[in-house]
Amino acid sequence: QKPVPSDIVISRSCVPKPIDRLATEVGLLSDEVELYGKTKAKVQLDIISRLRAQPDGKYVVVTGITPTPLGEGKSTTTIGLVQALGAHMKLNVFACVRQPSQGPTFGIKGGAAGGGYSQVIPMEEFNLHLTGDIHAITAANNLVAAAIDARLFHEATQTDKALYNRLVPLSGGQRTFSPIQINRLMRLGIEKTDPTTLTEEEITRFARLDMDPDSITWHRVIDTNDRFLRKITIGQSPTEKGHTREAQFSITVASEIMAVLALTSSLKDMRQRLAKMVVATSRSGQPITTEDLGVSGALTVLMRDAIKPNLMQTLEGTPVFVHAGPFANIAHGNSSVLADKIALKLVGPEGFVVTEAGFGADIGMEKFFNIKCRYSGLRPHVVVLVATVRALKMHGGGPTVSDSVYKNKLLCVSVNMRKQVENARHFGVPVVVAVNAFKTDTESELDLICTLAKEVGAFDAVRCSHWAEGGAGAVALGQAVQRASEAPSDFKFLYDVELPIADKIRIIAQKIYGADDIELLPDAQHKVELYTKQGFGNLPICMAKTHLSLSHEADKKGVPTGFVLPIRDIRASVGAGFLYPLVGTMPTIPGLPTRPCFYDIDLDPETEQVNGLF
Ligand code: ADP
Repeated sequence: QKPVPSDIVISRSCVPKPIDRLATEVGLLSDEVELYGKTKAKVQLDIISRLRAQPDGKYVVVTGITPTPLGEGKSTTTIGLVQALGAHMKLNVFACVRQPSQGPTFGIKGGAAGGGYSQVIPMEEFNLHLTGDIHAITAANNLVAAAIDARLFHEATQTDKALYNRLVPLSGGQRTFSPIQINRLMRLGIEKTDPTTLTEEEITRFARLDMDPDSITWHRVIDTNDRFLRKITIGQSPTEKGHTREAQFSITVASEIMAVLALTSSLKDMRQRLAKMVVATSRSGQPITTEDLGVSGALTVLMRDAIKPNLMQTLEGTPVFVHAGPFANIAHGNSSVLADKIALKLVGPEGFVVTEAGFGADIGMEKFFNIKCRYSGLRPHVVVLVATVRALKMHGGGPTVSDSVYKNKLLCVSVNMRKQVENARHFGVPVVVAVNAFKTDTESELDLICTLAKEVGAFDAVRCSHWAEGGAGAVALGQAVQRASEAPSDFKFLYDVELPIADKIRIIAQKIYGADDIELLPDAQHKVELYTKQGFGNLPICMAKTHLSLSHEADKKGVPTGFVLPIRDIRASVGAGFLYPLVGTMPTIPGLPTRPCFYDIDLDPETEQVNGLF
């Protein structure tokens, strides 16, 4: 077998077709496309109404068994599969993937454009700034953070009357409320539009948000693995008059605005979600929103381009939407609803849209179904579950040594795959196991995994070699997916959102993770009561749990049993539309290792090529 060159060498060896040509090929009109150079374009949302009558294509989600820290090839398989379906089987296709964060790109994991001969190109465009969506999210998020602290400061240093006069300033001898302020008055039950008629009590209620600084859940964000921002003190300049406060940063892709971008269905819906985000609780127990801060309109302005999906292509010239990139731990780990919806229209009823859900099936796929599909109304036809020999061996406790014990050993290590197939089957959708072959795998290992996968309930299981061979190596997978898409499916959610918060968490813990029960620790119990009282009890659940085990302990491999899942705390992303229970401690901003990826990254000044990305 020929050695496979590095990802960047492969990516660069292929000249991408001009993106406007690809846009025409997939049926986009020229005024629906905004070009960002020669290899990227944004697609306007008007297309949804133009194609309203067009039936949707087949919808496929790629997930995986519980991975090793290296990843088992979900992105690579997503791209390999669309290359097979599109370039080899001549069907209309779209891949819909997440935009990677620059934290991992310069940190440990490298980029996320797929790998080998199954990649999105040009990978340096894909992995770096793309069209600036993540920067827009950072800007919007930090505007909210600045608004919170400025408001705390102004409320602490001014009388009610002075605050009111500044919030509703005199202009041409008159005071007028802005539309956002009129909304706030209505929410407060003050039905007045003339600012001079408010009583003293109404002025206080209107002007003073009275945020409890200890209740602030909104963090500043940055798209860098900067661990020293995990806990900081802000307001230390004398100009802030001693109003210091402990605060923290998260990585941009873990932010609620990123989750909003991924789940929104239109500009109007995004405006509403950006208004509903809860940033803190007032001293009297009321939720304080971005609309209360007056910042929701400005956020929508900052996000107005980010909402349009980004068009790119694979190595074999098939189309890809790259849009939104929420982390799969504290957010829901799935690319945007809008990209999927547009792609499903563009491919038409015989075509396929393949999207990827982050981490293993217990994390990204569960959230794909229970959160993303619940909001989008879309129903997937097939689940592709990526398995590798190396991950299965890890679940069995290490590499197998002797051939004689081999079958038993693999049988024993395949329990994780069995459980993850079962997890996908809970939703009533057929599962195709894609065994992603590595060059160190033996024929018998690969064959055995396929046989075992079928025994544990997969509709089909096929080995694939798209990493080494491109789309040609995933044609068997493409054919299996096509057959599975015609099989009957009986989609259902795992839980009813109207159930009490603890019941929903318990259902996920027991049915998906295999826990005996859950334990709500005091902070979590308090939040259950608070969110139920504030009217957020009927939101779906987005578990924040390690992806390296079905349980809450990363080193428990295979299928752990006999454990009680501890829920340390619960947070609310009301604008995005979910509650996220924290299982153990989840750092919301990664750190850099001693030798980060950036050591290898440089620009060749002669050719202007980026070197060292992978
Ligand atoms: P995931 O999306 O599951 O995290 P990726 O598709 O990003 O995984 O793959 C993780 C890494 O493994 C990438 O660097 C990719 O190039 C590499 N990889 C994937 N499949 C193979 C394979 N079959 N052989 C060798 N390397 C692979």
